[in-house]
Amino acid sequence: MAVDRRDFLKLAGASVGGLLLSSAVSEQASAVSDAGMAETDVSMLYDTTKCVGCKACQTACRDWNKTAPEVDSSGIYDTPQDLSGDTWTLIQLYEEGPSWSFVKHQCMHCLDPACVAACPVAALQKSEEGPVTYDATRCFGCRYCMIACPFHIPKYQWDTNAPLIRKCTFCTDRMAQDMGPACVDACPTGALVWGNRGDLLADAHARIAENPDKYVDHVYGEHEAGGTLAIYLSHVPFEKLDFPALDSEPLPKQTELAMASVPGIIVGMGALMSGVYYAKSRGEKGKEA
Ligand code: SF4
Ligand code: SF4
Ligand code: SF4
Repeated sequence: MAVDRRDFLKLAGASVGGLLLSSAVSEQASAVSDAGMAETDVSMLYDTTKCVGCKACQTACRDWNKTAPEVDSSGIYDTPQDLSGDTWTLIQLYEEGPSWSFVKHQCMHCLDPACVAACPVAALQKSEEGPVTYDATRCFGCRYCMIACPFHIPKYQWDTNAPLIRKCTFCTDRMAQDMGPACVDACPTGALVWGNRGDLLADAHARIAENPDKYVDHVYGEHEAGGTLAIYLSHVPFEKLDFPALDSEPLPKQTELAMASVPGIIVGMGALMSGVYYAKSRGEKGKEA
């Protein structure tokens, strides 16, 4: 059962809200856990050995999605240091002695996403094609997705009056127009490629087999947290690049258990958000009058 934003705000103040939300959480988590491995899903391979750190991908993502450049407190352009409401992908430099590498961070688009399982109103959903999408009209700002994500990807627009969750969309809007992801299309070196997951995994393993001295023998995202659509090859160990060491167990089941035990918190938070929303609406109407 899906609960939209308006229905949620109505229900949050009512005592029956807890039962309905529990049901929504449970059904969302079950749907996610049934997703399983999907080798035909659209996927993206990033190879650190081919990345020259030009950040064309980062710029292309900002341009396509029309997100604002990062600025410092004086309003001067600032190089992003982390993902944010405006920076959905980030190229960072890892350096340690003679060892160095560029690395691209973005939503991993998990096959069994913890963020989707944690969202009580189905604002985050796993699409049929694979990418994890976000419906802002459903989101009421509880930020459970931020807590649930093992990669710390969803970011909140703290600096706006009507904050939303923001993260990489896998450019599903471009795909609907028969284009590839903006970041992939912008990459001048072939460090980023996209295609179906099975083909990209085969390609990744072939690259390792052909150049065993060049790569760490690990395709990150093949199995981690049940597998992801963003998969990685690297010449330095992944833990050096800030990728968490995760086993192959999907995380949504744990999320489901945690969420099922706190329906009262959800309702309480919903009631609080209703109050904030109501007060804000009254304030805005007052200003307009
Ligand atoms: S990386 Fe995080 S935000 Fe992206 S799909 Fe996985 S759990 Fe969700
Ligand atoms: S797939 Fe699209 S939204 Fe995601 S990082 Fe690349 S350009 Fe940005
Ligand atoms: S566009 Fe390609 S080469 Fe340039 S930083 Fe991004 S992934 Fe690396």
